[in-house]
Amino acid sequence: MTVHIGKFIWDITYSCPLRCGHCYSESGRRPVRTLDRDNAMRIVDVILAAQAKKVSISGGEPLSVRWAPEAMKRMHDAGIAVTLFTSGWSVTERMAASLTDAVTSIAVSIDGADASIHDTIRARAGAFERGMKALDILHRVKEERKAAGQSCFTLGIDYTLTRSGAREEDLERFVKAASERFPKLDFIRFGAVIPSGMAAEREFEANELLSIQELVDLIEVGQRFNAREGNTIDISVTDVRYFLPQPGVSVVDLDILQIEPDGALRAFPIYEAKVGNVLQNSLDVLWPKVREWRADPFVIEQMESVHTMADWASTTRILDRRYGSTDDQERIARRGQPALEFEAELETELV
Ligand code: SF4
Repeated sequence: MTVHIGKFIWDITYSCPLRCGHCYSESGRRPVRTLDRDNAMRIVDVILAAQAKKVSISGGEPLSVRWAPEAMKRMHDAGIAVTLFTSGWSVTERMAASLTDAVTSIAVSIDGADASIHDTIRARAGAFERGMKALDILHRVKEERKAAGQSCFTLGIDYTLTRSGAREEDLERFVKAASERFPKLDFIRFGAVIPSGMAAEREFEANELLSIQELVDLIEVGQRFNAREGNTIDISVTDVRYFLPQPGVSVVDLDILQIEPDGALRAFPIYEAKVGNVLQNSLDVLWPKVREWRADPFVIEQMESVHTMADWASTTRILDRRYGSTDDQERIARRGQPALEFEAELETELV
């Protein structure tokens, strides 16, 4: 294979114990599509052959998948920076130990200063407690490794900024509590919700999507937290302007790809358009299709029309409905209705 891709986002399952209103992958509300171990290793082979530098492992809840540590370790051993995103729901001592030499970085998602905020956003009682307990375990395991002179992942918190969770006094309270409970944490990243999946829908946009100006104002808040005397944690707020179209910059050759759990390849992260499946076709075949989709005048016009977060949500809705598969379009049409249950398909074999 000759195509080289710098970064992959690999959602390894759509199984998830939570039901976040901002879920970009709509996990927990659709068939899980998790591969068996052998096919998952074939996807690892694709990523290795593409000479990726970075891989983000997400989902769904990636730690609900039995083969996840093995897949991540193979990529990590090959020198790829592997970042794991987890809600922390299913982290155990044994699992934490298995991650020490399998990933470069772990980001536990916490979206609220306390259980009442976080559990509401994540739509499941106990989510905050489970996330904090996961951080307790991972923080301890990391410190033990460091004390023994061994390398380990960096560890931090990914805090998604929704209107419900982004009041400055709540962020202040959260940073104080997290710094006291996890003094050796490497980072706290406050990140804007990208209007993708559920977060692109009108109701979410109206109630929870922060504007670019509100997000820019929060950058200053993060800088203040970071500069505080005694702070040792890298605290940052994503500058969402970075993701907006830049004059003269084309996304056609942007070397980032997103793989869905069953191997389907998206033409561009965020949007539902698929160009094929990496288990059926090589990237040499798929990459030209990716470029073709990105260069489609309609797609370019839509992407270049984005100047606000509301524009972005609108563009996502338009592109998803136009280019999503039949399954995607049926699922999108069901949004807002009571969730279908796919519990029979949920992975139960936790690591
Ligand atoms: S924890 Fe992540 S994957 Fe699960 S519902 Fe929430 S945003 Fe989606």
